[in-house]
Amino acid sequence: MRIVLVGPPGAGKGTQATYLAKHYAIAQVSTGDIFRTNVADQTPLGVKAREFMDAGDLVPDEVTIAMVRDRLGEADAASGFLLDGFPRTVPQAEALDEILTDLGTKLDAVLEMSVDEEELVRRLSGRRTCSGCGRAWHVEFDQPSVDGVCDDCNGKLFRRDDDDPDTVRRRLEVYTEQTKPLVGYYEAQGLLCEVAAIGAVDDVTRRAIAALDGTS
Ligand code: AMP
Repeated sequence: MRIVLVGPPGAGKGTQATYLAKHYAIAQVSTGDIFRTNVADQTPLGVKAREFMDAGDLVPDEVTIAMVRDRLGEADAASGFLLDGFPRTVPQAEALDEILTDLGTKLDAVLEMSVDEEELVRRLSGRRTCSGCGRAWHVEFDQPSVDGVCDDCNGKLFRRDDDDPDTVRRRLEVYTEQTKPLVGYYEAQGLLCEVAAIGAVDDVTRRAIAALDGTS
């Protein structure tokens, strides 16, 4: 399976990406995670990406596309992958088509995760992320057993810099302006399926798998 997840920030793409990649035994490629690792390690890529991420803006296409091209060329992506957070612009989607043509393959499905905006703001402003495994928690809706500590790996929880309220608003604007047009792009290619990303995480995963299996 070669899958793209599309959805606004806070839809739970990262969480579902982990479960879906495991279910289909494919590589999970989350561009936000790759950027965050590079920012933390202060690599040249991280230095380039940081100012855009902190402002809630997109990292320029040429930087992002080159990074994804390299990542999809790695061995573990050869038998399938799930892209989470890429593409986010129509030029990125066109570049992905080209990358896949060069690799002699194509997408099987694009899953849109939909949630209304009020719910997104609520989720993002209370989100806490594990510094160890990257799992997302929430101060109200999904608390760990010990305050500030991840149940899965004992890592310390932190609030992502781009989850502060002003940056959240900017990220949602960027989604509507630049990423939402991808829905039409993939619908025209007959690749789009949709899942309502609300309710329990397990239920969303089950519905996502049903939607994806319906496309294959
Ligand atoms: P995410 O974890 O997917 O919400 O991504 C966090 C931030 O990383 C975004 O707000 C962007 O600044 C940057 N980023 C991640 N993926 C992309 C992409 N495909 N294109 C441009 N910027 C991206």
